[in-house]
Amino acid sequence: MKIAKDTVVTVHYTLSDAQGNLIEEGQEPMVYLHGGYDNTLPKIEQALEGKETGFETMIQVEPEDAFGEYDPGLIKIEPRNRLPEPVEVGMQFEGAPEGEEEAETVIFTVTDIAEDKVVLDGNHPLAGMALRFKLNVANVRAATAQEIEHGHVHGEHGHDDDYEGDEGDHYRSRPIH
Ligand SMILES: [Zn+2]
Repeated sequence: MKIAKDTVVTVHYTLSDAQGNLIEEGQEPMVYLHGGYDNTLPKIEQALEGKETGFETMIQVEPEDAFGEYDPGLIKIEPRNRLPEPVEVGMQFEGAPEGEEEAETVIFTVTDIAEDKVVLDGNHPLAGMALRFKLNVANVRAATAQEIEHGHVHGEHGHDDDYEGDEGDHYRSRPIH
């Protein structure tokens, strides 16, 4: 079966940066609903369109087509006493960007600690990076009517319909979490 709109694609992937340094070797394959449902990067869908099980390719995706350009405006400097102790570089906190109460929450990563100040970076860890995906198609099947209606994959790697309505339980096929 060829990959086309409303097929469910199982794909093994390896993610590297533009210099070929390994970022993530997908332990579990990505399973996504193909056809512009925003289940995976559009560039990945483009590369796989019309292909079949066994197809292998390597694509490079520029930052604007992946996790965006690095935004210096997402750096915040906070007094250390506003964060729980102990604070360490690499810790992550959820928060809303300054002055945007309605905005989606952002994951901030502690990137630096001075005596009484902490630097928080709200950029995606892969922002500003060109990424290389090595892709290997493991399976292609037709999506069910319900999967198409929901815009995501159900079943083995998906969510149980008993949990329907719980957004958090819906399978997200983003290769990066
Ligand atoms: Zn669903």
